[in-house]
Amino acid sequence: MTRITPLLERNEQFASDYTPVALGLPTAQLLIVTCLDHRVDPAIFLGVRLGEAPVIRNAGGRVTPAVIDDVAYIAFLAEQLFGTELAADALFEVAVVHHTQCGTGFLADPAFRHQAAQATGIPEKTLEASAVTDPEATVRADVGRLLASPSISPKVSVSGHVYDIATGRVTTVLDARHPDRPGA
Ligand SMILES: [Zn+2]
Repeated sequence: MTRITPLLERNEQFASDYTPVALGLPTAQLLIVTCLDHRVDPAIFLGVRLGEAPVIRNAGGRVTPAVIDDVAYIAFLAEQLFGTELAADALFEVAVVHHTQCGTGFLADPAFRHQAAQATGIPEKTLEASAVTDPEATVRADVGRLLASPSISPKVSVSGHVYDIATGRVTTVLDARHPDRPGA
């Protein structure tokens, strides 16, 4: 018996009437970057279904070097496997979604941040950089970070959105755009 036991029962239900999805292009032509918060699940608030979109989640849904590496690899993989099926200028769109009431917001407080750094060994600067207190501002910054990254294919577009925990609504802050580089 572990804490996951009740969920394994739900998995039994799921598997009893399951149809596998073959490896292919995400049918929504979308990759979602969002927070790991348990109130922020794209399968629920965006209705994302199996096979529609890869989802990368971390604290805050921030565009870290690890996220940039994942997006770069997924773009490479999509182009290698399915490049001929795609329009020459379009692989997929990365939608960055930050949210209100984010738990990373506590990290904006220097005393809290200092304590967190001491307890976890994570540098204070790293913790400060992950804080989401104004999701509209951090979404703009992170879309900019992806668009400016030389490792991201110019065939990838990036958009920015905020999910409001109080209303359940997603608002688009930045429409999809390609990096401003040759080949884009
Ligand atoms: Zn969050």
